[in-house]
Amino acid sequence: MKNLKRAVIIGGGIGGLTLALALRKKGVEAKVFEKYDHFQQHRTGFLIWTYAIKVLQGLDVDVDRVGAPLEVFEVYGRKGQPLTEMPIGTVSREMGADSYEINRRALIEMMSEMVGPDLAAGKNCISVESFEDRAVAHFEDGSSAEGDVVIGCDGANSTVRKFIHENAELNMFNAGGWIAIMDQHPPDLKPNRHMDFWEPGIKAGVADIGNGEARWYVGMNGALPNPDRSIKEQIVEAVPVLPQVIQQCLDLTDEKEMVPVMGGDLLALKPWLKGRVLIMGDAAHATSPYAGMGACAAIADAGHLAELTGACTDITEMFQRFQDDRKPITDGIIEESRDSLDMSAGSSKIKNWFRDLKMQHIPDKAMHKIVADMVNGN
Ligand SMILES: Cc1cc2nc3c(=O)[nH]c(=O)nc-3n(C[C@H](O)[C@H](O)[C@H](O)COP(=O)(O)OP(=O)(O)OC[C@H]3O[C@@H](n4cnc5c(N)ncnc54)[C@H](O)[C@@H]3O)c2cc1C
Repeated sequence: MKNLKRAVIIGGGIGGLTLALALRKKGVEAKVFEKYDHFQQHRTGFLIWTYAIKVLQGLDVDVDRVGAPLEVFEVYGRKGQPLTEMPIGTVSREMGADSYEINRRALIEMMSEMVGPDLAAGKNCISVESFEDRAVAHFEDGSSAEGDVVIGCDGANSTVRKFIHENAELNMFNAGGWIAIMDQHPPDLKPNRHMDFWEPGIKAGVADIGNGEARWYVGMNGALPNPDRSIKEQIVEAVPVLPQVIQQCLDLTDEKEMVPVMGGDLLALKPWLKGRVLIMGDAAHATSPYAGMGACAAIADAGHLAELTGACTDITEMFQRFQDDRKPITDGIIEESRDSLDMSAGSSKIKNWFRDLKMQHIPDKAMHKIVADMVNGN
């Protein structure tokens, strides 16, 4: 595209870094400006499905260094009883790439190294402007950066978004919990497995993320973390039947490593563009974490936007097509995530009983389709 030579990307999270690598591959000079001057945030992890892994691998991101392929997703029901084992590994490979459980901080560090000098840290963007022939980002330290476009990949509390929607607010749910990474495996977790527990009012899980590490989480539906109380006590009180493996996680993790999270989303925010400024990833379509798809969506956004550079004649067309193509998909993810909270952590005894019964009797063909849809992001 003739009029896209230089892109300014705000935010060096998974979306911004993927976009920088993807644009670079298309011959566009992309500079990333990240608020923090180091990546020493808390360690967390995430599950990245086949469709997003393909984008990362297409950019030579070595996911094996920072994660582990997921073979089996075990689901446990309302009383902690086993319901089903989803064959993620087999189906993912049929679809062209493994799905991975990943150490997020290790991935971000590795991708930051790949972006190299095109990543500037310690740059807190405070405002952006769009002109006829350029877009400009301004930073707290008094400096500015100019490009043909500014792309906001600055997460759920985006500053760039304010340029398009001055007062957009996240819809916050009465739901929250904690996530953590531990340097060892809880004894009950087998390699390349994810164990998910769907109990009344609670969704908890633990997964192998490779390199001898595991990630775990406990989410509450209808309650928020209380910063003034012991996290371990809150979890023990909240989980109706505390699975042994989650007890092991609690025993082996320091409370300082447990990161509180709250559920919220940005359903139906539109437009994502104004002049030469675009938002993507959580800045445009933050989702609650219950479907485990937000990072996958940010990666897919980045891959798609870079592809459009070759398919569009100008920036306006590219931004419009990006929104038209991606918005229905990301709205669907946000809705699915809301449904997933109620499905996995609802409190209705009848619904939970019926759900458990259904999960225990999924025919092989139907299971294959469910997993194929998950790993393909459908
Ligand atoms: C508990 C939990 C579990 C999750 N699990 C999964 C999962 O299993 N799978 C999945 O796909 N997704 C998961 N997600 C969602 C996923 O984390 C997000 O959707 C994803 O991180 C969004 O990527 P992003 O790059 O858009 O934003 P972010 O990852 O939030 O990155 C934004 C970046 O912008 C920087 N920034 C912010 N403001 C500024 C500024 N003013 N100037 C400069 N830089 C700025 C931030 O420091 C950050 O580095 C989970 C989320 C949570 C909370």
